[in-house]
Amino acid sequence: MNEADKAIDEAEKKLKESRRLAEYYVKNKARLRASNAKWKAENKARLKSYSAGYYLRNKEKIKAAAARWQLANKDKVKVRKAASTIARRALRLASRPETYYSKWHCKNREAVSERQAKWYVENGHIRRDAANRRRAMAESGTCSNDPQIAKWDKSWRNGGLPVRCYWCQGLFQPNKCHTDHIIALSNGGLHRIDNLCIACASCNTRKRNKDISTWNSQIVSPVLLI
Ligand SMILES: [Zn+2]
Repeated sequence: MNEADKAIDEAEKKLKESRRLAEYYVKNKARLRASNAKWKAENKARLKSYSAGYYLRNKEKIKAAAARWQLANKDKVKVRKAASTIARRALRLASRPETYYSKWHCKNREAVSERQAKWYVENGHIRRDAANRRRAMAESGTCSNDPQIAKWDKSWRNGGLPVRCYWCQGLFQPNKCHTDHIIALSNGGLHRIDNLCIACASCNTRKRNKDISTWNSQIVSPVLLI
């Protein structure tokens, strides 16, 4: 028998053997599965330590394979992430006591998010302005409570008298007014007593962080800037 025949013979033998094994497996599937499960159940600790050891020995390989898989299956990853977010949210909600509002919110989730999105499109500037102010205050270190400012603020808020809006010169109840920065913090204004004024709600919301020359052209008594 020459080498080629030998190789063919060998291959046939292997094929036969694997067929025999496959047949045996199909015939005894239920029994094999059961005994496999039994062995696994009895050797949990051993299996655990084996797989932990395997992981440690092949960490880099496993990580690289996972990264490759994630790259090749971006859509699946997206779906899984979304599913896990939903599952986590459901768990979180389930752990909270149910209230009338939470029930209503659950039923009207789409309407709520639609409403929120619409609000943000129309009023996003409110959030952005607040963020700008916070950032400016943090950057200029003006978050601290200045006692002079606090005193002034208290005096007009609790004075029991109507106060005059710095911008429109109208008289308003103090609870309808805000403390306003003459030059907005986000435009480089300082959180100092000489940059503060009383503004009625309407002026304050209209002014937002407009620069002072733009704002001056829209109000009754423009501010004289040196
Ligand atoms: Zn006003």
